[in-house]
Amino acid sequence: MFLLAPRRPHGLDYSADIATAVPAPLTRLREVAKRGLMNPSSPSSALTPPGAGRFATRSGATHLLGLEGLPREQILAILDDAERDLARLQKDRSPTDELRLVTVVIAMFEDSTRTRVSFQIAAKRLGATVSTFSSHGLSLSKGETLRDTLRIFEANGADVVVVRHASPGAAAYLAEQIDSAVVNAGDGMHEHPTQGLLDLMTLRQAWGGSFAGRRIAIVGDIAHSRVARSAIFGLATVGVAVTLAGPATLMPAEVERLGGTVAATVDEAMEGADAVMALRIQRERMEGGLLPSFAEYARVWGIDAARVRRMKPDAVVLHPGPVNRGVELAPDVADGERSVILDQVANGVAVRCAVLRRSAGALAREAA
Ligand code: ASP
Repeated sequence: MFLLAPRRPHGLDYSADIATAVPAPLTRLREVAKRGLMNPSSPSSALTPPGAGRFATRSGATHLLGLEGLPREQILAILDDAERDLARLQKDRSPTDELRLVTVVIAMFEDSTRTRVSFQIAAKRLGATVSTFSSHGLSLSKGETLRDTLRIFEANGADVVVVRHASPGAAAYLAEQIDSAVVNAGDGMHEHPTQGLLDLMTLRQAWGGSFAGRRIAIVGDIAHSRVARSAIFGLATVGVAVTLAGPATLMPAEVERLGGTVAATVDEAMEGADAVMALRIQRERMEGGLLPSFAEYARVWGIDAARVRRMKPDAVVLHPGPVNRGVELAPDVADGERSVILDQVANGVAVRCAVLRRSAGALAREAA
């Protein structure tokens, strides 16, 4: 099912979409929305599915559902923690006992390789008990609902559930249903907050430790990209200017309301920028017919060495992976000296250590 067509206006009610993919009474979802996991006074709340958001605390569990609304000081504190984790991991990969008392379940209801591996490594580096679940061929195909499946994890003693799901708002919905802390590892086209944090961490490193006065170009399939949404929310919070560029068919309606300005061409977006983030073409989320061809995309929107030269001399190139080489990025750019793609991966483990530690909260403190 197609959940958010590029030209579908924002300000829509996502609850029907979630209810379709997550069997649950619609009234329950409306209650969740009403009880204000979303903040009705927030200027961007119209863009926000029920429960988007922030580190929220319920029953002592600290959820990370999105970067929208997450305060600047919390973002910076996570990045600082992650820098400490990175420094330690570079010296010593033996596990600590910080999460010795903590059970982390990684529940992937949609394909994931990088994010799953990164969360697994992070949880193990902190000494947690880790169990990974992927929905293919398992109970969901026997008709068990998502909520029932997650309740099983909870009954097994999961303190933190890391969840990826194809429906926007699914992580927030689950946070309402179970007492474990929920970490959103990607909910459809909505958010991917740990990706946003690792992108911020990578940029801050590349920019000598400060976001001040910087500008980034985000190029490609903005409409289907949870990576773009989390990045835009996080970048706006720390004060980085964002220029968006991409084919009109892959640009959401009222895109400026997300934050950032729109450029007509990739060259214009990249001119004088401090970084560029290329987004993966989300073939699996497209209805078809949105792109004439990949060759055409590469020519008009792909980032090659000549376009990289339009940026500042020390500007860097990011991509969340997996890269379609020769489409979003020319191979010599993906592997070139300005590419920080592998730093993004290494930073991902560190950021996830910092997030898991926060989500485990009191239990992590007890164990330390
Ligand atoms: N790996 C990222 C995600 O799951 C980026 C992508 O797949 O395009 O959202």
